Amino acid sequence: MHKLLILLLLVGFNLAAMELRGEMTQGSMIVGKTVADTSVWLDGDALKVSPQGDFVFGFSREAKLTHQLEWAQPGQTKQHKTLTLTKREYKIERIKGLPPKMVTPDPDVLERIRAEGRRIAKARRIDDDRIDFTQPFIWPAKGRISGFYGSQRILNGKPKTPHYGVDVAAKTGSPVVAPADGVVTFWQPDMYYSGGTMLIDHGHGISSAFLHLSAAHVKVGQTVKQGELVAEVGQTGRATGPHLDWRINWFNVRLDPALLVPAQ
Ligand SMILES: [Zn+2]
Repeated sequence: MHKLLILLLLVGFNLAAMELRGEMTQGSMIVGKTVADTSVWLDGDALKVSPQGDFVFGFSREAKLTHQLEWAQPGQTKQHKTLTLTKREYKIERIKGLPPKMVTPDPDVLERIRAEGRRIAKARRIDDDRIDFTQPFIWPAKGRISGFYGSQRILNGKPKTPHYGVDVAAKTGSPVVAPADGVVTFWQPDMYYSGGTMLIDHGHGISSAFLHLSAAHVKVGQTVKQGELVAEVGQTGRATGPHLDWRINWFNVRLDPALLVPAQ
């Protein structure tokens, strides 16, 4: 009897040592906290855990709705928890009768677009030890929300890549601040689609991207604090009006920034 009671207490202790923060839905970033020296797996893949027990993971736009989280202290059996996500509805817009030129880019710019994509993908593979992702994020810009994560346009019957950012409409020159601490890992003023583009790494594969910027106020390699001025809103690249397109990635998994901040 006494032995059984101790076992139950131990189980209770181990379960209590796993906290998850974030909305259990598609496109969400989940921040975890456990105790030091705990290993954690999501769907069988090991996650990076900080010496203090911090870790993070995210779910894509079309993520399946059931996932397995497992964790274990050295020499102990694995605990596990089933994570059940809610399914999201995304805005789908069908536009017909467009000239073909507007649907498919010219071959001569395709190579440039691919090369730029590879450079961005490389910056998003950085797996830094920093744990800035544990901070509650703030909006990087103020303004009306003019575009949503996950929305998709179907042009002449051809589905385009979904929109993965949240768009904040603001005048050119409006301040863009760091939504959390981090380090600047990428800046290019003139990308084909996204114009002035900056990436800030928040650790463990979590990064912010800012698109269509008109100016940068920080340099690659520079450490920034939450709320610090990093750039200015613009209309560079393929943008129909001045706005900030803010994106969040967990490595190559695209997450919804709007789930990290209070409603604006
Ligand atoms: Zn956008």
